[in-house]
Formats: sequence, C-alpha cells, structure tokens
Amino acid sequence: MTTRPDLSQLPYGLTTRPVDPRRGLPIPAVNVYPDGEVDFISINGAKAMELAVRGRCGLCALPLIGPVAFLGGPKAAEAGFYSDPPMHEECAEAALTLCPHIARPHARRASERRREHDATHAVGFSDEKPSEWVLLVCDEYGSALTPAVDGGVVPVFVVGKVLRARRFGYQDGVLTEIAQE
Ligand SMILES: [Zn+2]
Repeated sequence: MTTRPDLSQLPYGLTTRPVDPRRGLPIPAVNVYPDGEVDFISINGAKAMELAVRGRCGLCALPLIGPVAFLGGPKAAEAGFYSDPPMHEECAEAALTLCPHIARPHARRASERRREHDATHAVGFSDEKPSEWVLLVCDEYGSALTPAVDGGVVPVFVVGKVLRARRFGYQDGVLTEIAQE
C-alpha cells in the first residue's frame, strides 16, 4: 500500500505538468516520448537536448531565467558534466523529494528494471544510483552530443561557473540536505 505523494509544495512550473494517474506525480517533460508514452525510468535524450537548447527546464519545460540547476551524484558534480538536463533549482528540489528513484535509498533505476525505451548512457558515465546527491547551481550551461555505450550518441550537458553546491544524503532512509561546513 503506497500513499499518494504530497503535491502541496510543488513549484509553479511543476503544477503546469500533467499528473501521472498511477503514481500521482507530475510528469517531467524529459520523461515523455514522441509516441506520448511516459517512462519515469529513462530520460528521452532527444527531448532533453531540445529543451536545453531552447533554454527550458528539463522537468517543467518553462524558460530557465537566471541560474540553472543540475542534479546528479558527486562524480558528475566534480566533472561538471551531466546526462540529465538543466532545470530550475526549485524543480530539482521537488525531484529530490518526489522522484521515486532519488527519494528512496533502495529504489532502483538501471540494470534490474526493464527499460521500456532502451535508454542508453554516455561512455564514461555511470548509470548507478549515487549514495549522495549534489544539487549544483551554475550561471550557464552548454550542451553537446557524446558517444553512448550502445554505439549511438546521447546529449551531455556542461556546467558553467558553479555558484553553489548543495549536498543531500540518506539519513535513516530519508534524503536530507547535508549542512555545508
Ligand atoms: Zn522547472
């Protein structure tokens, strides 16, 4: 028995998204495929690229104005490269609490689950769930295509000047922001 997620604190952008009837969650723009299907597990790379090039948030699809946020593990933050597209900081915060893959320490995304859309990932990128998440806020970003493990290409997003990095770790099974030293 699962409880319905609490959507009362949604940032404005995510209130404009359709809600998935089964999960009770707003559907991120990058999880919609051209056939109209929704896949919460894998990102539609072409859509991610399109939104980023148009300067739009990967989650709510509204314009990104001012600093942008990236969400990923410590390795991505250190390298300054992301496979997930730029988003609003408030949308990234909502993803940290609502996205089943992120919010729960043992939720799985990659290998054990059937991928409906055979999503691939970039060479050199891990598809593992990190034990800690970093919400990186930067002034601007770039985008490029990079070789994927399946021989194709996938988008990669390049972080500009980092303004701040907020860290989140699992404490007693709950993702909690770690105070900056
Ligand atoms: Zn947004």
